[in-house]
Amino acid sequence: MLSFDTIVAPATPPGEGSISIVRLSGPRAVDILATVFRGRQHPEAMATHHLYYGFLVNRDQQRIDEVLAVIMRAPCSYTREDVVEVHCHGGLQVLRNVLDLFLDGGARMALPGEFTQRAFLNGRLDLAQAEAVIEVIRARSEKASRVALGQLDGLLSRKINCFADQLKEMLALLEAHIDFPDDEVGTLDLAGLIEPVKQVIHEMKTLINSFDLGRTLRDGISVLILGRPNVGKSSLMNAILGEARAIVTDIAGTTRDTVEEQLVLAGYPVRLIDAAGVRHTENPVESEGVRRAREKAATADLVLLVVDGSSPLTEEDILAFDLCRPETTVLVVNKSDQPPGCDLDCFDSLTSRVSVSAKHNQGLTELRTAVVNCLAHNDNFADNEGIIITERRHRDALVQAVVSLDAFLRSADTAAPLECLAMELRESLDALGQITGETTPDEILEQIFSRFCIGK
Ligand code: GDP
Repeated sequence: MLSFDTIVAPATPPGEGSISIVRLSGPRAVDILATVFRGRQHPEAMATHHLYYGFLVNRDQQRIDEVLAVIMRAPCSYTREDVVEVHCHGGLQVLRNVLDLFLDGGARMALPGEFTQRAFLNGRLDLAQAEAVIEVIRARSEKASRVALGQLDGLLSRKINCFADQLKEMLALLEAHIDFPDDEVGTLDLAGLIEPVKQVIHEMKTLINSFDLGRTLRDGISVLILGRPNVGKSSLMNAILGEARAIVTDIAGTTRDTVEEQLVLAGYPVRLIDAAGVRHTENPVESEGVRRAREKAATADLVLLVVDGSSPLTEEDILAFDLCRPETTVLVVNKSDQPPGCDLDCFDSLTSRVSVSAKHNQGLTELRTAVVNCLAHNDNFADNEGIIITERRHRDALVQAVVSLDAFLRSADTAAPLECLAMELRESLDALGQITGETTPDEILEQIFSRFCIGK
């Protein structure tokens, strides 16, 4: 284990709350607690992972707060060092006083992510697991949190280690043939390495392809509400969200800019975007909005094309329709509370369609079902219980690993020297090591941990 100084930081967010937790980690954590904790049990004698009631006192033995303290002795702790957590009252001043007490006692304020960095450096977590900690904290939907928890549990790391073990075995074989003559180690069956390498490449590519879903789980699926002015887009957005966020008026073109809201749909984080009404106009503010709507339609994962079912279609409805891709569009025929007055024949290519009344909250369940079905048909969002890549860094490292293995196959094909083949395997292993942290340069490590909050 590496030896560090003792760090301290609040483990709970700042602000008023019933309790705040202050955490210390390092070789002097228990000593520092002992100088300020007064209770029935002296900290030196406290059992590990048990809560003890007492008070924190300052140098003049004045009480600073009434607390519960727990010691988690090394190596059975988050950082694998001695960790102390003190549950104090959740007020800003109390927290400041408690922190000052520990800082006076010889601890120093932790840097962002420093607890997790210690867990990594002490071998408690590998880098992919450490990165998963932040994903678990930031997960915005059930699916995202399940993927992050799987990664924290080592699902991705085990897969990467499994690739690495196979490549290491091949490398050992090649090196034996480089170092020793054939009559000592037998003839090398190079052809026998080709299939396993192809299989590894195939599995790596499957992982790389999961990145689209991974990115979506992190950033959310973008669902764009599109249509000409006054068909009820804002009303629909409000109805879906169940709250009045977008402004609803009778004047055509009020939704000038895009309004974005987040919600969770069938376990997916969704970004619901209300675009400006699509119309030909001379108004510069509005045409800018329309330009953005076009742009958003081109990049949205799903479009809800809203038309007013109670009035005839206009040129602007067709203009909006032209921005849509049929596979990722749900036709929403709004104002179903009014007598029908619109011929929908021209939307024949849109097989997914629902009637709603945004104003009266009718048809919304059917709309949700249509959205979920449309997403389920999109390969990017197919429910994949396997391992999913959520970090671009992991994806890039895997792409690099595949590039080296492709080079290995080409070299094997042209009967290149064994040293070349070994080098390509080593490069691939190096790329894999960047995911788990074995070969990650220090500056990248620093960058990764600096994304964490203080106290994590
Ligand atoms: P947007 O310009 O497409 O965002 O349309 P709005 O949501 O601002 O709605 C335009 C007008 O249509 C408003 O007067 C709404 O009250 C009305 N409206 C929206 N949805 C419905 C509906 O389901 N039925 C009826 N009758 N009117 C609606």
